[in-house]
Amino acid sequence: MNVFSHPEFDNHEHLSFFCDPETGLKAIVAIHNTSRGPALGGCRMYPYATDEEALRDVLRLSRGMTYKSALANLDLGGGKSVIIGDPRKHKTEALMEAMGRHLESLGGRYSAAEDSGTSVADLRVMGRHTRYVAGIANRTGFDGNPSNGDPSPATAYGTFIGLKAAVRHKLGQDDLTGLKVAIQGVGNVGFRLARHLREAGAELWVHDIHQDNLQRAVDELDAKPASAEDILFLPVDVVAPCAMGAVLNDASIPELKAGIIAGAANNLLDRPEHDAMLKQQGILYAPDFAINAGGIIDVFYERTGATPDTVRKHVETIGDTLTEIFNRSDRTGLPTGDIANELAEERFQKHTAGAGLAPMRLAGTG
Ligand code: NAD
Repeated sequence: MNVFSHPEFDNHEHLSFFCDPETGLKAIVAIHNTSRGPALGGCRMYPYATDEEALRDVLRLSRGMTYKSALANLDLGGGKSVIIGDPRKHKTEALMEAMGRHLESLGGRYSAAEDSGTSVADLRVMGRHTRYVAGIANRTGFDGNPSNGDPSPATAYGTFIGLKAAVRHKLGQDDLTGLKVAIQGVGNVGFRLARHLREAGAELWVHDIHQDNLQRAVDELDAKPASAEDILFLPVDVVAPCAMGAVLNDASIPELKAGIIAGAANNLLDRPEHDAMLKQQGILYAPDFAINAGGIIDVFYERTGATPDTVRKHVETIGDTLTEIFNRSDRTGLPTGDIANELAEERFQKHTAGAGLAPMRLAGTG
């Protein structure tokens, strides 16, 4: 297995491979870049088929966090961790505690938050042995409601703000009444996004592989159920993928009928060139790491003790960032994903130059 010469290595500052035979823990922590501050990013638990798959995922996700935090103007570096294992079968308190001990040994260069396969409860178990976990504090959330630290509500709100910016740009309207939106995945983020949209008067179509999640959106939000085959290809105004990545690919893009893609799932593009393919087809794509930054913004402020109002206002800057991306894409003819990378690099350099650190050139997020 290549490490330094891995195609996704991209000058990572640090990689740790943790093994704890007693609990079965096998984990990788990747710290891409800490020029803007200590790294913060989710800890994913997933049944990777091979060690190579886990390494590739953690490297791509960790680099993506450098970009996401720079673009969101946060004083944070990019990092991520993965635990190799099926969260439904292999997750134990002892394993999470072992992960906590390993995180503590990194001395704060990286802090973990929730990701796919890990919950607030898991992060709290890790937190028995380390200070370097986030997304766990009971406090008043950005929306004035009680929060247990779960970043999903802020991610959903930021995605809603970003989706509105895309609608304004493409359709020239602020009013969402009657806007047709298809949402793939109505879990923690997708369901809350659906609720924001419903409250704003949008008409919703939803699909989820879990019938109970689908039914909740149908019952509580008057959403129409759609099949797995149809959800991305309905004749709607907006498609919001909120389940998994790589859904924008060679097969799906030619079949899309919506003019806007604005969803929370990470790594939506199967390959970088799919960005250009969407643009050629006249589809406005809100880059995933720009629109789904609400959660990292929320988790960042958990430690600073900022007021809910400060957090909400920062999340709302996602709309301004996307508008800047869309305008620049129109001016230059470059796809929105390229522009988002460019803008993240500019913000990264401005910050590091200001802090007296040598500016560095970040490679594309791929
Ligand atoms: P979640 O697990 O709560 O929800 C995902 C939902 O998608 C579930 O209901 C699941 O049943 C459904 N799903 C899975 N595969 C599907 C498929 N093929 N078709 C339809 N539905 C499917 O996860 P979440 O926290 O809501 O995150 C959703 C996405 O947003 C993920 O890609 C995640 O990486 C990304 N994201 C989440 C956050 C956050 O704060 N939670 C932040 C940034 C990005």
